[in-house]
Amino acid sequence: MKNELIRNPVFRMAAEQFDRTADHLGLSAELRERCKWPTKVVSVAVPFHRDNGETEIFYGHRVQHLLSRGPVKGGLRYHPAVELGEVAALAMWMTWKCALMELPFGGGKGGIACDPRELSTSEMERITRRFTQELLPVIGENTDVMAPDMGTNEQVMAWILDSYSTHVGHLQPAIVTGKPVALGGTLGRIEATGHGVAFLAARAMTRLKIDSNKATAIIQGFGNVGQYAARTLSSYGVKIVGVSDVTGAIWCENGVDVEALREQVGKTGTVIGYPGSKEIDAAEMLIQECTVLVPAAIDMVLTKDNAPNLKCRILAEGANGPTTPEADAIIEARGDIFLIPDILANAGGVTVSYFEWVQNLQRFSWTQSEVMTRLETKMQAAFDRVLNYSKYKKVPHRIAALALGIRDTAEIKKKRGLYP
Ligand code: NAD
Repeated sequence: MKNELIRNPVFRMAAEQFDRTADHLGLSAELRERCKWPTKVVSVAVPFHRDNGETEIFYGHRVQHLLSRGPVKGGLRYHPAVELGEVAALAMWMTWKCALMELPFGGGKGGIACDPRELSTSEMERITRRFTQELLPVIGENTDVMAPDMGTNEQVMAWILDSYSTHVGHLQPAIVTGKPVALGGTLGRIEATGHGVAFLAARAMTRLKIDSNKATAIIQGFGNVGQYAARTLSSYGVKIVGVSDVTGAIWCENGVDVEALREQVGKTGTVIGYPGSKEIDAAEMLIQECTVLVPAAIDMVLTKDNAPNLKCRILAEGANGPTTPEADAIIEARGDIFLIPDILANAGGVTVSYFEWVQNLQRFSWTQSEVMTRLETKMQAAFDRVLNYSKYKKVPHRIAALALGIRDTAEIKKKRGLYP
């Protein structure tokens, strides 16, 4: 299995980050092995009927990276590029993220290699229900709790909840998070990740003494994370000048009206054609001058080729793994970019997922303002922990965030020992 994982470039990237941080922490060889590799890996065939009656088979994976500190928590992704190694990398990052945020979860991730844009709603439903059925032996509210990620949404979570609850014979809302509020979803979950990204970008602006009313932002990816990051940044007075999605990119010197752009994307499925904007090459957009750059789409978009040309002051990583280790080295050497690393910047999603799970287990619900206040308190505390660690240990923000997560995980592994 290790060989298969390491062949994937995203896993290699996560492993390289882990190794560098483990060196910094001076982890023993035994703890390195126990922390780095996933605990459980499940790959399944997902056969389903297309609307025209033909049978097709997709393949899906669920990786449980760490089961030592509570249930596994992590998203489910529907995307054509899904591969086991990528899913394992995302699961590993989830472990460090949960530990950094002091949540009682280990990391997990799932994915099905498919293109949701080419699937009807009923095809999506059949795929989701079949995948859930295949995973029944390994999921549960105390073992593995899924959530939306790229290409999935609250409706997909509702189908998982229904399939699982039907199987166990009673409603179990805590089996997924990010579900509709009517089914026990929490208020504040939809906006949590993007809001958290923007909230920390604002904290960074405060540290750098930048007036948010004079700031600009570029957002790559205008889905769940990108839209809500743009919305909160805009509410702080930041002008959103560049936005891209899978169909292309737009530039709007005067700033976009985020609600109007959301409405357009809801109707047309593209950012292209926004009134008053011009089209711009998507790769060019990333290297335009701005205060805050938010990659909120896919991994490995900031590389050794474009990192020297970045002109942002703050890089707030909404996506998981948007920056390659080579690009990291360039950004560190430049020293002029304030990095808010992915496991910190986008931790709002899993944090509010935790709040949702807690409310479900207690059969109790919190108000929106309770959720948002608790979210901001946790994000602020983690931000301060990372910045303090970085300052006192003299390591970049990314290594500081990873070190806090990995150190905590290694401690748990060491204290629990090995069974039998
Ligand atoms: P989403 O499916 O809602 O949106 C993805 C967006 O990225 C869409 O606008 C899509 O058009 C765009 N996109 C896809 N490929 C692109 C490309 N090559 N160039 C430019 N844009 C592209 O997904 P999401 O939930 O917003 O997730 C985005 C990223 O954030 C992923 O890396 C995900 O793992 C990460 N993330 C999401 C959450 C969450 O709560 N949704 C939490 C933590 C991290």
